[in-house]
Formats: sequence, structure tokens, C-alpha cells
Amino acid sequence: MTRLHNLGFPRIGARRELKQALEAYWAGDLQQSELEHVGRSLRQRHWALQADAGLDLVPVGDFAWYDQILEFSCLLGVVPHRFAQDADQPVSLDTLFRMARGRAPTGTPAAACEMTKWFDTNYHYIVPELAPDQRFRLARESLFEQVEEARAQGHNPKPVIPGPLTYLYLSKGEHFDGADDSAKLALLDTLIPVYRQLLQRLADQGVEWVQVDEPILVLDLPDAWQRAYLRVFDQLAGASNTKLLLATYFGGLGNNLFTALELPVAGIHLDRVRGGDDLGQIVARLGDKVLSLGVINGRNIWRTNLDAVLEALLPLRHELGERLWLAPSCSLLHSPVDLDQEDRLDNELKSWLSFAKQKLDELALLGGALRGDSHANAGLQAQREALQARAHSPRIHNPDVAARLAKSGELCRDRQSPFAERIARQQQALKLPAFPTTTIGSFPQTREIRSARRDWKAGKLSDADYTRQMQEEIALCIRYQEEVELDVLVHGEAERNDMVEYFGELLDGFAFTRFGWVQSYGSRCVKPPIIFGDVQRPQPMTVEWARYAQSLTDKPVKGMLTGPVTILQWSFVRDDQARAETCKQIALALRDEVQDLEGAGIKVIQIDEPALREGLPLRKSDWQAYLDWAVDCFRLSTVGVQDDTQIHTHMCYSEFNDIIQAIAALDADVITIETSRSNMELLDAFRDFQYPNDIGPGVYDIHSPNEPAVDWMVQLMEKAARRLPRERLWVNPDCGLKTRQWEETRGALLNMVKAARQLRNAG
Ligand code: GLN
Ligand code: ZN
Repeated sequence: MTRLHNLGFPRIGARRELKQALEAYWAGDLQQSELEHVGRSLRQRHWALQADAGLDLVPVGDFAWYDQILEFSCLLGVVPHRFAQDADQPVSLDTLFRMARGRAPTGTPAAACEMTKWFDTNYHYIVPELAPDQRFRLARESLFEQVEEARAQGHNPKPVIPGPLTYLYLSKGEHFDGADDSAKLALLDTLIPVYRQLLQRLADQGVEWVQVDEPILVLDLPDAWQRAYLRVFDQLAGASNTKLLLATYFGGLGNNLFTALELPVAGIHLDRVRGGDDLGQIVARLGDKVLSLGVINGRNIWRTNLDAVLEALLPLRHELGERLWLAPSCSLLHSPVDLDQEDRLDNELKSWLSFAKQKLDELALLGGALRGDSHANAGLQAQREALQARAHSPRIHNPDVAARLAKSGELCRDRQSPFAERIARQQQALKLPAFPTTTIGSFPQTREIRSARRDWKAGKLSDADYTRQMQEEIALCIRYQEEVELDVLVHGEAERNDMVEYFGELLDGFAFTRFGWVQSYGSRCVKPPIIFGDVQRPQPMTVEWARYAQSLTDKPVKGMLTGPVTILQWSFVRDDQARAETCKQIALALRDEVQDLEGAGIKVIQIDEPALREGLPLRKSDWQAYLDWAVDCFRLSTVGVQDDTQIHTHMCYSEFNDIIQAIAALDADVITIETSRSNMELLDAFRDFQYPNDIGPGVYDIHSPNEPAVDWMVQLMEKAARRLPRERLWVNPDCGLKTRQWEETRGALLNMVKAARQLRNAG
């Protein structure tokens, strides 16, 4: 019989119960015992849900107070020295929280550990920090306790742990040079014995299977790492009599496939949604291993085409029999929890969707069908009908969009003139000083702004009153910027809750959930829009706000848009056409908006693409194809303007080394980036490439409430000027100001403007 299992379930709770409890605990409003109680009841509920759906094994260790990698660092005693962890005491919950956030209800505050993106997801993990003299030990009991907990509730627990190679790869240390530094492998000698103890403890608890996550097997691995696998898994496999399930996800194994198949593990899990490795070859080399196939997409929200999955599985079922297991492609951490709660989505749309809980039901349906259960047929039939309806729904297919897309190849991808000519014309129109000053777009969002938006959405505030209130905010924002004497102003984005949601709500083809939260980091969740159909812009989205803002001042006001790649990247994207196609639809809608802004007299237009880099595929060999269409979409949105209209873009990061060519190909007149924290060194990429257009390297970190000093910003800009021509440089903060306070912002901007003046005088 085919075994059903799951790699991990979202821990945040259908109503974000964990978020609420964590934040109350951190604020001192909840006792630790009460927090522990919330955690226990969430685990209990989630295990029960999985068992009730018919899963044979439930994951344990997928629950984390903040992050599963941090949880594992604490289990291994990997606590940086600054947290003053006693080397033979257990690591406490508050120490875990101090590592995550710098502070906790007890213990001395210290600088929090770094956080970074988990592969190509929007989840962030806490980066393990390894000291040169790093020791490992079993320093936290929670995993073992949770195994007992699950068992006491009548489940068959399958602990989930990061594999040693993935753990080291994801970690950092001053003495290491990048993620794949082979010097890290020297730590295996001290790390593996602790893994062996861990496995022995689990075996003593009667655990049958342990899931060892090694997602780095879907990456381009240096030889030394690939070679280390056999040695490591030889030692792990011999540690105890528990069976190891090697889990990989987020892609195919490619050149790591044979390595994985050679390992002495009892089973291997492959992501069949994103991985295309040849199953014939896999089965031929499988030996007596279990093959777990991840056939339900853990990264998106569409119902699965179960017929197609079954067709691929049937031959394998005969060949593998009991050794065929089924699961979602990856942990369901990346899915929203429960579609049943969505009382404001219409039934048609709902019938196309599947969240974590529904994905388990899909899995059970597949299991039933493979067993030949008679009632699986009804379920399969219902799913088939829903998918057929979706395929033909007029809500998805808009002939106008299709016609426009078909002709989009004819649209020009180039500005009228090269940058050197454009910038001269822009300068005639804008008359900006050297080192022009600007901001990235948003200004502080006050409680009044948020409640006005909320009231208007709830129908408690009329359109007219809402418009008036937002116009007042815009007017305040313009006056404020004139007072601090910035050169290029913005309207402040008061009307925007979120830079993607705002546009999604105004475009056709998008839907929004009420509870479709996905954990981003710690207690923070995001609620991505769902792009379900062809994207079209029924009417202008930002023009009236921009026009109003411009009417208040003689200085140029930047129009402010979110770019096509970022809108795509931060949404759940339809799976019935290529991402590139969907992106192009968004790009065409934005193209119209850009031209309408220009028509309304807006001379400077910014199209933010903070997500361009995170869209990079996991394998380098796939980068170029992605960058080609991403750049094409950006250009499609922006190039339809006159030479004297200035196009800006913004990206909140600074690692451009490996994508500088694509950045240059965007051909934005001005790009503003994050550099203040890196001391401008990251501008080297632009220097080496001889990047030709204007650049605004952020001169202060908007994440910090501290007021940046004039001298410090001047020095940073001088460093920038050593790398790039002075006349190409702008002066601006790192990112938008919406999370700051108005008062601290004023001081910061006044200093920034002073710094720009000093630079001009020095030049
Ligand atoms: N224009 C946006 C803002 O200022 C950009 C935000 C971002 O880059 N993430 O808020
Ligand atoms: Zn930014």
C-alpha cells in the first residue's frame, strides 16, 4: 500500500494563533507557560488534521517558535558567544528568542543573528553562526519531547531534521568565505558524532523513520560538497536502526542525482512538481529504497491535476509496490493553512484552490485512487470537473489581453535615444543640481492613515471623504519635503497598504484572501495576492494621486509604481501558463500606467523592482532565461515614454556582481539601491562594469531609528564618487520610509540634504 506522509505543516495556525501568542509573550503580556500551551495545542491540532486526512506518518520538528533552522541550532548548541550561553546548560527558549530578535523577556539583549531567504521562497531563516572553535552537543530537548507528545496522541511520528551538509551550507562564520566554502566540511568531524547521538536518541524513542532534509542537493554544488555526501550518510546510516528518508525539494537533483541515489539511506524524497529528473533512471538505480514523490505543489495554491499525477504513478505502483510513497513537493510551510475559512471568495474561485489542509485531502484522494478505493472516484470526478471549469472559465481568459500579448513582440523595447542624449534632455526639463536628492517613495504611515484606509474599505468612510483625507496627507508630505528642500519629491504612498496588494486590487485577474497568511519570518506573515486570470488594467491606478501631488509644487514629483517582476514574485501565480507570460501581461498594464502618468505631466516615474534578484532560479544555468524575460518585461513597461521623461528604478539590496549586465540592460535613467550598510564597497560591481546611467546609492539605513550624521553621509558619497563619476550620483535613503516616524525622518532628511550641499560645494 502506498504510504502517505508530509514534509511539514504550517505552524503559524489558521488564525495566526502562534503570531499572537509570540507577540504577546515578547511584550510581557503572556507567561511562558501560556505560550508553551499555545504551541502544544497547535501541534496537536496539526497532527490530528494530518492523521485524520489519512497520513501514515506525521512530521515532528516542523514546529518552530521562530524558525526551524534556529530551532536546530539551539538543539546543536550553536549559540554565538555574545549570548553568554553556559556550555553545559540547556539552551533556553529566551536564548532562542534573543538569537532571533536580540531580546527576550529574560536574558541580556545582544545583537540578533542574521536572517536570510530560504532558497527561492519568501521565508527567512536565522543563519547559524559558527565560531572557529565551534563545538556541538545536544543542548535542547524539545524535539525529543515533541516525539513523545505526538506518540502520546496516537500518531506515528517522523522527526524532521536538517541534514548536516545543508545545515553547514546554510551557516556562516567569519572564517568562511561564502556558503559553499569547503573549509566548512572540516566541521563534519565534530558535527557527525552529535547527529549520531541524536539519531540514537530517536531510535531509543522507537522512531521508525527520520526525515533528513538536504535541499542543497537541488543546487549547483562544488565537488567537495558532493563528495562529502557518501561519507556523511555512511556514518549517519550506521548510527542507529532508524530509517533515514533523505528529503530534497525546490527542484530536481540534476548532477547530484546519482550521488543521492548511492547514499545508504532507506528512502529518498523528490520534488516532482519542480524537478524533472528521469524517473526511469531513478527507479533503475533505486535499489531497495523507498521512493517518495512530492506530487502536490507545496509552493502554490492551485488544486492538483490528479488524473495527470495518477497516470504517471500507475506504472510505478506496480514496479515499486509498498516502496512508493506520496507527499506534497516540499513542506507546506509555504502554503496558507485552510481554504475553508475564506468566506469572501466566491465558490467558483474556491473550487480551483487548495491550501495546506486541502492539499492533505488531495494526497489522501491519490492514495485512495491507488488503492482502488471506490469512493476515491467521486472525489476525482469532482476535482476533474473543477479543473475543467477553470480551464474554460471566461474569468481567466480575456481575448483582449491575448490579442495584445500576441502583438507585444512588435512593441519597441528601446527608448527613443541612448542614455547620454536622454539625460541631457531630462536635465533641461528638470534643472536639478549636482548630487540631486530624493527619497524612495513611501513616507511614514501613521495610525490615522491606516484607519482611514480601513474605514474606507469597510464602507465606513465615503469615497469623497477618503480622497479628501488622502489628499491632505499628500499635501502634508509635499510641504514637508519642500521644507527639508529635497529636489525630486514623492507623493508619499499614503493610499497604499502594500506595494503589491495596492496594484493587485486595481488590476483584473487578481484575487485576495482573508486568511491566506504565509510565514515570512518569526511572527511575520505575508498574504500574497492570487493571480488567477489574464491581467488587465481597467483604469488608471495612480494617476490622480500623482497629478494632485504635482499640482501642489513646482518641484518634480516622481510617479511611483511597482514593477512587473516584483508583482509577479510576491503573488501566487497561475500555473496554467509560463510565469514569463503572466509577467508580460502585468508589464503591459504598467506600460499604460507609465504613459498615462507621462500624459498627466509627471516627468519622473519610478518602477520599483526589489524582487528582481530574488526571482533568480536556484541553478545558474537557468539564470539567463529568467533575466532575459525579466529585463524584457521591465523594458516593456518603461520604454514607451519621451526622452525627457526620467525613469527610475529601485532595488533594496546591493549584490549586483552577478547580475550587473541585466541591471544595465534595464536601461533605467536612475537606479537607487541599498549600499549604506556595505560601506559603498558593493558599488565595485558598477564601477567594474562601467555602468553608464545614474545611480543613487542609499546613504542611510532606514531600518534604524538613529539619525545619520552629515559627515558620515558625505564620506559615504565620497567613497561612491571614487568608484563612479560624480555627475552620475544621486543622494537618497536606502529604501522607503513607511516604517519610520515623521519626526525622526525630518532630522535624517535634513542631514541628508546638508550632506548633498557639502558635496556640491566640494565639487
Ligand atoms: N516605493 C516603495 C517604498 O518606498 C519601495 C519599497 C521597497 O523597495 N520595498 O516603500
Ligand atoms: Zn527598497
